[in-house]
Amino acid sequence: MAQPTMTDERAGGALQPAAASTNAHVRQRNLSTVLGILHHDGPHSRAELVRRTGLTRSTMTVLTAELMEMGLIRDGPARGGSGRVGRPGVLVEANPEVAAVAVHPESDAITVAVVGLGGGVLRRVRYDTPAPASARETVRVVRSIVDGMSADLERDHRIVGVGVAVPGLVRSRTGRVLLAPHLGWRDESIAEALSKSLGRYVIAANDASVGARGESVFGAGRGVRNIVFANGTSAGIGGGVIIGGEVLNGTEGFAGELGHTVVDRNGARCHCGRRGCLEAEVSLQRLLPHLARTHIDEDELDIALGLSRDPALLAEVSRQAELLSEALTDFVNLFSPDMVVLSGYLGNLLSVSRERLTDAVRVHPVGGETRSVRLERSKLRSSLMLVGAAELVFADRVLPVTG
Ligand SMILES: [Zn+2]
Repeated sequence: MAQPTMTDERAGGALQPAAASTNAHVRQRNLSTVLGILHHDGPHSRAELVRRTGLTRSTMTVLTAELMEMGLIRDGPARGGSGRVGRPGVLVEANPEVAAVAVHPESDAITVAVVGLGGGVLRRVRYDTPAPASARETVRVVRSIVDGMSADLERDHRIVGVGVAVPGLVRSRTGRVLLAPHLGWRDESIAEALSKSLGRYVIAANDASVGARGESVFGAGRGVRNIVFANGTSAGIGGGVIIGGEVLNGTEGFAGELGHTVVDRNGARCHCGRRGCLEAEVSLQRLLPHLARTHIDEDELDIALGLSRDPALLAEVSRQAELLSEALTDFVNLFSPDMVVLSGYLGNLLSVSRERLTDAVRVHPVGGETRSVRLERSKLRSSLMLVGAAELVFADRVLPVTG
């Protein structure tokens, strides 16, 4: 066999192993890119994958064959009625049998779901808790729900891990919860405890970061590189920031506590100890008395706000929208996002105060220049935390495509 010509003698014998490892690296990166496209953007024909990646047809044939052999993709639905001449494109898609278990503990419920590759929520169980469940109780409930599903899981799915979205401060490396005030958790090794109980890989993160990630890959922020995400729940406001396509973690994963931005120095006392934090002022709890309700879900609230002519309610909505708009302008100045996504209760406020809040992200007070920052309501709604928690697992265990 002829040796490859080497023009640089210094490369010597090291060239071949280095080249081999580069090839392995390129192959793995290509597999990961193709799987990522199918997982995040749905079924594609091989020709479309060639166009999107710039790889050759023959390389794509090899890559899709490999991913199929690994069981990560499968033949997709036939594309009908495309109006194209010739045979309809044969599609491939991410295999939803490859799935993650998503767990979302909240102050009034624990939700467990099975989410397939491709981002579809395949099963969902909500377990109502009259009071916030302790970490130990949460592990017990999740274990019993997963046990209840186990026959179906083993028959229909290949579970690659468990993702947990926790409303609190979570150490990104260990999945340890330092503090989840609305659950009453302090220093809980939730990922480790669940992993021990379920015998599976478990990853945990702050729920707003999880939401930001979910919305950026499957929701309103699809394909957007820089996103500020804020989520309002009955317990408070969480934030997540995505810069250059990556979730901003900060030290140990604690970045993005947007709810504790002070919007009124003389405002209500926040549980963090300060006064006038965004989450103490812009709050569903402060709206509920006007609606004569103790609890309301996002869809019901849309209707209630759309119908109400109660001046006291409208004044409170207006007050909160004003304070939220102040905070949004700060967020735009701090992070310079392409898009701001509001979910949960903040999504409700956006729908009734769109003009005012849109102005808040459009006007750039520094220099008075107008910027085109898009303001969107979350698209994934009640699936957001589940899809986002599953994505933690997919991003870590499946998309890198090893093997
Ligand atoms: Zn605070």
